[in-house]
Amino acid sequence: MAGEVHDIFIIGGGINGCGIARDAVGRGYSVFLAEMNDLASGTSSGSTKLIHGGLRYLEYYEFRLVRESLMEREVLWACAPHIIWPMRFVLPHHAGLRPAWLLRLGLFLYDHIGGRKLLPATKTLDMRNDPAARPLKSLYTKAFEYSDCWVNDARLVALNARDAADKGAILRTRTKVVGARRDTDRWTLTVQDMLSGAKEEIQARLVVNAAGPWVDDVLSGVVGSNQPHNVRLVQGSHIVVRKKFDDPRAYFFQNTDGRIIFAIPYEQDFTLIGTTDQDYHGDPAKVTISDTEIDYLCAAASEYFAAPVQREDVVWTYSGVRPLYDDGASKAQEATRDYVLKADGPEGMAPLLNIFGGKITTFRRLAEHMLEKIEERLGKRGDPWTARGTLPGGDFAVDGFDSELRRLMGDYPFLDQRHAWRLLRLYGTKARLLLGEAGALADLGRHFGSNLYEAEVRYLIDREWAIVAQDILWRRTKMGLHLNASEADALDQFMKSAVERRRQIAAE
Ligand code: FAD
Repeated sequence: MAGEVHDIFIIGGGINGCGIARDAVGRGYSVFLAEMNDLASGTSSGSTKLIHGGLRYLEYYEFRLVRESLMEREVLWACAPHIIWPMRFVLPHHAGLRPAWLLRLGLFLYDHIGGRKLLPATKTLDMRNDPAARPLKSLYTKAFEYSDCWVNDARLVALNARDAADKGAILRTRTKVVGARRDTDRWTLTVQDMLSGAKEEIQARLVVNAAGPWVDDVLSGVVGSNQPHNVRLVQGSHIVVRKKFDDPRAYFFQNTDGRIIFAIPYEQDFTLIGTTDQDYHGDPAKVTISDTEIDYLCAAASEYFAAPVQREDVVWTYSGVRPLYDDGASKAQEATRDYVLKADGPEGMAPLLNIFGGKITTFRRLAEHMLEKIEERLGKRGDPWTARGTLPGGDFAVDGFDSELRRLMGDYPFLDQRHAWRLLRLYGTKARLLLGEAGALADLGRHFGSNLYEAEVRYLIDREWAIVAQDILWRRTKMGLHLNASEADALDQFMKSAVERRRQIAAE
């Protein structure tokens, strides 16, 4: 509607922006969110993909953060059991690094401070006869096995966005906030369509700056604030190699520099190894792994695996920039992982609320805390609701994945197990929406390679803001690991015409 004044304008379509949009619209506020690129194209697709308390953060006495994060594990798992599931981690005791008693103490706290109900407790492994020892060097005779959860980070963002839009929020991707004017009762934001170049003005009573690693750029460049140094940008990179082990458990390896890395079963055929921690000073959109990081990760993993991890084994890498609240810590790895929400600007003017820091794990609680601040300014509209709010496709029991898979394969017998598993993991019960009336693979339309078909591509264009092939290959799915360059090109061509056609229909 022309001239409409929205309650809340959110800058940034990462996990924090989309999480706040969903919570706020579900409480009755009107919400407009602008994302300059694709959903989850910033840090929120570049994480290690763990819903975890952060065992390591106990060493920095981050008890508030660890407790809140541990408690979120089971809450989020219940809301989205298709994209979040429990994972066991094997932490080998390494002679010369942290002593066994310290690891046991840390894990005792980890098991007990976070209200764990369903996730299994820590246990000690005798690595002389546990299958977890098979891919490792024989020096590791003792290990601990503990619980955390795995999350498909980019899909968590897309599902929050979808749910927010289903509840009435307006979400615009490829839409950059390029200017903002503040009056007493409202903001006027200038947004630019990054595809057409067209500019538009949007009005809102309150602005949330959820721009992640760009949060200070928005403050200085868009809002004109003179306090532009709040976050410390810390790069973290991962390497993906062909499957190093068959065990469903992940590994938690301690390094000699005091840091830790994970080696995690990934996308059925691969192992994900990461991460690094180094200060970053460039444009967050341009972050890429350095040779030093690749060497570091290969060496750290090779300290444990019997068959060394080598540069040639790396099939894919990705990097992200952590927007950590700058608490003045001397080393990047020591900077706080907790989040800080701060209002900015003079009294009596329309409010601006900024987010500094925040984990994927804590996005839902961060949104609740942000809503408390919003309520103080705009008045209360509704109660917190997201702790029991299922995300799209997640309406089945936490232990119900296998039976859902059997049902899906029963109803669509032409899907092989791998294909059905992938669809159910990405879309949950919404996989049926995508498959519709199909009775054979041919009914899914054009085949793009691996098990990617037109029906899925169209679903992602229609319902999840996918515009170019990269959105599908690396964020809505990880089919980029399975399609070759010419298949990816063909997908891009197809999407260009499908998206254009959709635009024409909308304009008619
Ligand atoms: P982002 O995801 O970066 O979103 C900000 C968005 O704002 C971007 O999409 C950007 O395009 C947009 N934007 C910026 N400026 C504008 C503008 N002017 N107009 C419109 N849009 C704009 N957390 C965990 O819980 N578990 C983990 O295992 C974990 N591992 C991690 C590993 C690494 C290597 C890294 C880097 C982070 C990890 N994290 C993890 C942390 C987590 O990924 C981040 O804290 C989280 O993704 C931050 O989300 P965000 O929404 O604040 O930022």
